[in-house]
Amino acid sequence: MVETRLIDGKAFAEGLRGRIATEVAAFEAATGVKPGLAVVLVGEDPASAVYVRNKGKQTLEAGMASIEHKLPADTAQDVVLALVRTLNADPTVHGILVQLPLPAHIDAQAVLATIDPAKDVDGFHVVNAGRLAVGLEALVPCTPLGCVLLLKDQLGSLAGLEAVVVGRSNIVGKPLAQLLLREDCTVTIAHSRTRDLADVCRRADILIGAVGRPEMIRGVWIKPGATVIDVGINRVEKPGGGTRLVGDIAFDEAQGIAGAITPVPGGVGPMTIACLLQNTLTAAKRLVDAA
Ligand code: NDP
Repeated sequence: MVETRLIDGKAFAEGLRGRIATEVAAFEAATGVKPGLAVVLVGEDPASAVYVRNKGKQTLEAGMASIEHKLPADTAQDVVLALVRTLNADPTVHGILVQLPLPAHIDAQAVLATIDPAKDVDGFHVVNAGRLAVGLEALVPCTPLGCVLLLKDQLGSLAGLEAVVVGRSNIVGKPLAQLLLREDCTVTIAHSRTRDLADVCRRADILIGAVGRPEMIRGVWIKPGATVIDVGINRVEKPGGGTRLVGDIAFDEAQGIAGAITPVPGGVGPMTIACLLQNTLTAAKRLVDAA
């Protein structure tokens, strides 16, 4: 039985945001340029509205400019594309984020493909995905980046470790696997068609749940001492009424088996916005250097 450490993503993200704010101030003092993040929200999805509000608040706290475009749910795709092109051309905007999901009548891939890859702070443009895959400098998706920062903080070098990523989405699983490969891990990507998933997970020194199924990954699937990162955010009913958030890992079962684990909430979640700010600063620096 090991003692399982809690990986405090909230505290780590707070520290990271502080370091970014210091760097933003130094960058602005040196160049006269204030990094700017533009967020486009189409429609009234309540969860998206909360994310956008938090992003705006933390962008301002980091000393950057926050530009918000809130469009009604019935906005035509052409109007969204035209706005993205305007933001591409705006020299005060260094990062562009179009909040997903978009309403069903808008083709999300067409919108993402229109964002200038140099301002694509979500890292979802195929140019950035391709650059990451071939090992070139890229803007990297924020949640995977946050996971790797937490892992390196816990473990130092990740070289040679067995990493198992459960989930192969374009926004989490695949880019995370690429980042872990870049850190010299031996990487397995598991998904809904993987055979003997429990056995695959038990190989992992680093086990990552990015599935979206409440507590699907059981305690007995975890190798004793493994570092466990839970990306999942699932809202479930509480026995006495109301709801609560749980991850993809059975958190209570992992106690005494995992070496360390991120909680939900308070683990990976807060890292996502911190990494968005980091990407915006990175984009601003590269755009100024290229000008
Ligand atoms: P997707 O639904 O796009 O992908 C889920 C992945 O899980 C798919 O690859 C799917 O496999 C796999 N999967 C589904 N069921 C099983 C199963 N029974 N066994 C093994 N694999 C399975 O989800 P996302 O990647 O967008 O998100 C994953 C989770 O992370 C969600 O809970 C989401 O809310 C959360 N999230 C959290 C963020 C944060 O900031 N903390 C940010 C983004 C997401 P297949 O491809 O075969 O269908």
